[in-house]
Amino acid sequence: MLVVHKYGGTSVGDLSRIENVANRVAKAKEAGNDIVVVVSAMSGETNKLIEYANYFTPSPAKKEMDLLLSAGERVTAALLSIALQAKGYDAVAMSGRQAGIVTDTTHTYARIESIDPTAMQNAIKEGKIVVVAGFQGVSKEGLVTTLGRGGSDLSAVAIAGALHADQCEIYSDVDGIYTTDPRIEPNAKKMDTISYDEMLELSSLGAKVLQNRSVELAKKLNVKLYAKSSFIDNEGTLITQENNSMEAVLVSGVVLDKNQARVTLRGVSDRPGIAAEIFTRLANENINVDMIIQTTGTDGSTNLGFTVPQSELQNARRVMEKFDHDIEGMDFNDHICKVSVVGVGMKSHAGVAAKAFSVLAASNINIQMISTSEIKVSMIIDEKYGELAIRMLHEAYELDK
Ligand code: ASP
Ligand code: MG
Repeated sequence: MLVVHKYGGTSVGDLSRIENVANRVAKAKEAGNDIVVVVSAMSGETNKLIEYANYFTPSPAKKEMDLLLSAGERVTAALLSIALQAKGYDAVAMSGRQAGIVTDTTHTYARIESIDPTAMQNAIKEGKIVVVAGFQGVSKEGLVTTLGRGGSDLSAVAIAGALHADQCEIYSDVDGIYTTDPRIEPNAKKMDTISYDEMLELSSLGAKVLQNRSVELAKKLNVKLYAKSSFIDNEGTLITQENNSMEAVLVSGVVLDKNQARVTLRGVSDRPGIAAEIFTRLANENINVDMIIQTTGTDGSTNLGFTVPQSELQNARRVMEKFDHDIEGMDFNDHICKVSVVGVGMKSHAGVAAKAFSVLAASNINIQMISTSEIKVSMIIDEKYGELAIRMLHEAYELDK
């Protein structure tokens, strides 16, 4: 089997942890696999480098930042390769450029455009363990680029795709994806398998484990992804294509998003183009709108509600105040949260949403907004009931079983 391992910052946080990773990689090699390892910078290292730059200026040039930040991952790659060699294994370390990773020229947030896997393939053929510095590539202009924070997950998935690896294992200090946040519900269970789409919808549960962009890419390239712990040995969670057995499960997880705020507009002029104007202005200010609800009255006016990230609420207020001749009343509320129930089984089962509403009703929790997709039901409720709602829903869908 050809397997790509990726180790995050905590897993390579100091020299003894790098040694621990070397032992794990060696074990996988001894089991008869070809191994490519992608590494992050040692934990805290990327932030430290950013601080160094900020000592001189708050806005350092992006090209220099890429050169600077790419160094963190190179250090780990070289050290891991040295550690493996010291144990008698044939290993080779590569920067992103040496591994053939070509990106666009968007410095500090580059996109991978292509990978020439020849150098990695040649090393694998020679029996070597290949260790690649994550989070980086080289632009078409020949400059070092980085892929955005958390970007070594993306490197690992892209490399797994380019090498047609059998699977890509992402190691961190968490042993998989849970049915909800265990800090809210101690009975949360680790899932064995989950589909790419569910993972994307539950992204806040996996936030510490998997970068979102990497899950999107894994879906696109059909890379079998495992989220595993580098500290304990267990199966982790497999993130893969949807299958029939997943559909048998109604709900796979419930998730709380406290980072939401609600805007309510009353008595909005009911004329063609008004929604376009409002949301274009918001988009121009880079304000991400999530849920939108419009209800038209009979008096030539309409009510419009939507949610934005809490950090954007003041910006949204400024934008809305420019519309005051078109809007009778406005209300801005950041004491709300979003509770979502996610599962591919919803596609083929009726009543999942009704059950969620009943669960909240039973606890006398008022639902302020609802939105649904094929595999998700989201509800906006008062912030103070968020955690209670998560626990009630977790129990109602028997996620603790
Ligand atoms: N070292 C980079 C970061 O801290 C990339 C990564 O760890 O994935 O964001
Ligand atoms: Mg990470």
